[in-house]
Amino acid sequence: VTAQLVDGTAVARQVREDVAKGVAELAAARGTPPGLATVLIGDDPASEVYVRNKRRACTAAGMQDFHRHLPADITQEEVVALVDELAADPDVSGILLQLPLPKGLDRFALVDRIPPAKDVDGLTTLSRGLLARDLPGLRPCTPAGVIKLIDAARIPLEGAAAVVVGRSELVGHPAAELLLSRRATVTIAHSHTRDLAKVTRQADVLVVAAGVPGLITTAHVKPGTAVIDVGIHRTDSGLTGDVAYNEVAEVAGWITPVPGGVGPMTIAMLLANTLTAATMQAAGDDRA
Ligand code: NAP
Repeated sequence: VTAQLVDGTAVARQVREDVAKGVAELAAARGTPPGLATVLIGDDPASEVYVRNKRRACTAAGMQDFHRHLPADITQEEVVALVDELAADPDVSGILLQLPLPKGLDRFALVDRIPPAKDVDGLTTLSRGLLARDLPGLRPCTPAGVIKLIDAARIPLEGAAAVVVGRSELVGHPAAELLLSRRATVTIAHSHTRDLAKVTRQADVLVVAAGVPGLITTAHVKPGTAVIDVGIHRTDSGLTGDVAYNEVAEVAGWITPVPGGVGPMTIAMLLANTLTAATMQAAGDDRA
């Protein structure tokens, strides 16, 4: 293996420790610790696991846990009323509406009901617009985690050729915007891209969020490239990513493993966003 391993578990632990310190300081200053409200609608088993992990991490960092679990047949109006109640509660610093929502609920309308100052997932139209304009705001957790890992590994971004494979609202698109705001020269590839390998071989930094196991092979990677693998796939032999790790690690300059790369960063950045939201609210800034 020639690539330097980018250890997401270690970076995430550091972020969580830093957040816990910030939480303790804020709690000492204003009397109550920051709080995260997770809203889970329905009984999707994967969503239940994700929410449980977020709540545990939140409690471990010393934050208040305001979880709400609602039945799948709840109406749009009832969810709006709950989001409004959480939005008005000064102890709730951040609101996270776990996606996907059950059929019949309008995801965009409900996400946009979250005030931007409490939008710890960074998915409201306003938060997305603040990112597009490169103005301060809460950023989507997984792409923010990607940037944190790149910085932790001291991978230079300014002027670098960055290629993002994937243009999803949750990962690829905001990752590309964050790379652009760090002055990388950004290309976004997706399922219609002609000759993917030709495009990805231009990359100094390659962020892969395609959701296709083993998509990226040595044919796609220039020697020395930093390869950040966002993909997560459950297989019989454990978790794997979108990158053929064993072969790509022989040519890459840096590589994130799966598991133990981007995965642990998502919850760490959710905690960081919740602390940021609480800090900004304490300072009277309602835009976060
Ligand atoms: P998604 O919504 O399915 O988006 C996948 C993107 O990849 C789309 O833009 C798609 O292009 C593109 N794509 C699909 N096949 C491709 C191909 N053969 N070549 C080039 N581009 C291709 O998925 P997502 O939510 O962004 O998630 C991506 C992966 O990251 C998944 O494996 C997911 O499990 C994982 N993930 C991990 C975390 C974490 O915490 N580590 C968080 C979120 C997601 P089109 O737009 O043209 O369809």
